[in-house]
Amino acid sequence: MSSFLSFAELCQRVEGVSGSLEKVDLVAAFLKNLDDDELAVASGFIMGDLFSPSMDLVMGVGPSILYEAMARACGCSTERISDMLRATGDPGLVASAAVDKKKPIGFAAFIKDEPLSIKEVYQRLVAVARASGKGSQDAKVKNLQYLFSQATPLEAQYIARLAIEDMRIGIGEGGVRDAIAQAFSQDASKVERAYNLTNDIGLVAVNARKGTLADLSVLINHPIKMMLAQVGEGISASMQELGSAAIEWKYDGARVQIHKDGKRVRIFSRRLEDVTRSLPEIVRLAQEVRADKAILDGEVVAIGKDSRPLAFQEILKRFRRKYNVEKQAKETPLHLFLFDLIYLDGQSTVDLPLTRRRELLEGIADPSILADQVISDSVQRAEEIYHQALEKGHEGLILKNSMSVYAPGKRGKNWLKIKPVMETLDLAVIGAKWGEGRRASFLGSYRLACLDEATSKLQDIGWVATGLTDEALAELTELFRELILVQNGMEVELKPAVIFEVAYEEIQKSQSYSSGYALRFPRLVRVRDDKSLEEADSLERVESLYRVQRGRNNSR
Ligand code: ATP
Repeated sequence: MSSFLSFAELCQRVEGVSGSLEKVDLVAAFLKNLDDDELAVASGFIMGDLFSPSMDLVMGVGPSILYEAMARACGCSTERISDMLRATGDPGLVASAAVDKKKPIGFAAFIKDEPLSIKEVYQRLVAVARASGKGSQDAKVKNLQYLFSQATPLEAQYIARLAIEDMRIGIGEGGVRDAIAQAFSQDASKVERAYNLTNDIGLVAVNARKGTLADLSVLINHPIKMMLAQVGEGISASMQELGSAAIEWKYDGARVQIHKDGKRVRIFSRRLEDVTRSLPEIVRLAQEVRADKAILDGEVVAIGKDSRPLAFQEILKRFRRKYNVEKQAKETPLHLFLFDLIYLDGQSTVDLPLTRRRELLEGIADPSILADQVISDSVQRAEEIYHQALEKGHEGLILKNSMSVYAPGKRGKNWLKIKPVMETLDLAVIGAKWGEGRRASFLGSYRLACLDEATSKLQDIGWVATGLTDEALAELTELFRELILVQNGMEVELKPAVIFEVAYEEIQKSQSYSSGYALRFPRLVRVRDDKSLEEADSLERVESLYRVQRGRNNSR
């Protein structure tokens, strides 16, 4: 049985080296020596992904639960923990320092012969996640408290980071995939494909070891990564690239992946979170689909009285809603537009061409819930459809290669999106400032960062003031309150978890921020609750937008 200490030591080493190849080597060597259960757990742990998606578990640990657990385990006050945080800015280091100085009270007073094992830590974290409803806060604290009370300082550092699902060791999904490929002598592309199909890194690791990656396929009730679209270079060039294309509106809504298993329906958001409970009318629509088992891909749109789509925030409110969902469903009804089929009655359909998937979809779904689609090679036809979409308040077009397979998790040339505006950036919010005067109780401006994919680190790119109403600001402040890590005068450091979609006039080179860039006149477009941190735009994308923009300016 492998000790959790060995895992913590691995993390420390991975964090300590800067090259991504070295990190992959270290992880690969570690994974090789684990038994299957440990392998499944540790592969996820390394990237801060704690549970298999089939378990349908959410950690639900914010800084307040974490600090309470540390304080209780170490016999110090939460104020002391907050002070330490101000000094280090890293919950992992605080946990390690707190454990180092702990007084043996509570659980820690028991003598324990066995060091923590990977499995034990995992089981405790499952217990933390399973605690829900009344009394759950306390149950979560107690389980974490137990772990901290048994941990060495180094173990505590990574237990804290696991608890908030933010490992900060500079290796992401791609690195872990490469490590699995290397550890078990598998092709990296096969590992990637298996991961995109199952979204379950533990399952992939175990099958890589067995040499059975090819057996992994789409599984019902197992959300699959969604296929994404690339930015097209205008209608004419994109149509030329695709030849005969499937032309569809880019609906202004939110992505859903629907799993229908008999009468049981589960709906996953773009982040692959289960949002079934909040969308009863979509569940009912999916139950009418004429297939015993199916995985459907589409967009839900909230349409207002003027028959135009409502703001994206309105849809997200529906996604987040846990209570009074039927009432809310009446107030903001959602429409469903299905555009793809991923699985049908026991068979994955991802390898079929789009036209065939569409035929199958038309065979099982009522036309009222299908996205309109026109197959054509005419630029003029595409332009007409584009104008119709914009007139109806939607975003533009998605032009699809009609012969293409469904490529899970891929943003490729087979789906091209056409939108009228300059591309916005999706940036991680890593800090904020309290307002002044009347707005002193609101977080008014926010520090933004893009993701440096080479190092998996967030690099700041400036601040955005929201220009929001007091009511909207209050709502936003509430969203961030749980994420405050460190309070520094008027500024706070936030746990990076929220993505802002930001529009701007121009990208400029800048020495003021670690990304090397700054945004001119940034403006908050919306909170992208449907995107996870890893989906923040990359530094590479900022650089490429900067170059495109320079080209454009030069040709003026
Ligand atoms: P954006 O910010 O432009 O929505 P994104 O990163 O969320 O970008 P993209 O892959 O760039 O996602 O664009 C595809 C998104 O457009 C899908 O995730 C989906 O939510 C939405 N969409 C709307 N209509 C369609 C359609 N007909 N086919 C595919 N995706 C569609």
